[in-house]
Amino acid sequence: MPDSVLAVLQRAYYHCSMGIFDTVRFDPPRPCPNCGTAIAEVQTKAFDPGLRDYRVGDVIVGSPILSGVIREELYCPGCAATDRTSRRSVWFSIWHTLLVGVYDEPGQAEQRLQTVDRAELLDYLARHQSNALTWHDRFSRLYGELQNLHDYQQKRDSGEIQREEDLRFFRIREILDADDPLGELIRNNKPVNPEDETEVGRED
Ligand SMILES: [Zn+2]
Repeated sequence: MPDSVLAVLQRAYYHCSMGIFDTVRFDPPRPCPNCGTAIAEVQTKAFDPGLRDYRVGDVIVGSPILSGVIREELYCPGCAATDRTSRRSVWFSIWHTLLVGVYDEPGQAEQRLQTVDRAELLDYLARHQSNALTWHDRFSRLYGELQNLHDYQQKRDSGEIQREEDLRFFRIREILDADDPLGELIRNNKPVNPEDETEVGRED
């Protein structure tokens, strides 16, 4: 079975299964009102679950509402560990499918919808643009190093290599000199953000 077909089937399987959810990350973490444990995220199936990560300032893909408030149960590892299981909720404020806040009280979440202003929207926009540039740079570097390594290996195998004369090979000299060039390349491009690494593991 071709890999592409397998990927499509796996995706369909994941979307049908009950285990799929999205994660809303709190920045900064929210202290549990019950035990004070810093809670970094909440998982939710309230949107169109696709194993996506969201923060305040992100557009919710497949948001079930255009604007309004959605309740979600908040799991606290601290309370669970000490068995003080009082159920907590958080409320998402969603404004034109944009997540604009997460609150302990529904009234606060409702109130938030009235205070979204243009300066905040610009901040969200700037953050996304900056993130896109970072990803662009990272991809360009990874692609460039892979391309150069591949060219080098092709030329080396056909015996027509003039390594010192080619600037492309000079740029990746530390990779070429490594015992395991591909491994070195992978290490060079390791995600700085641990969330990006889990992204690799989740890739379907
Ligand atoms: Zn707690």
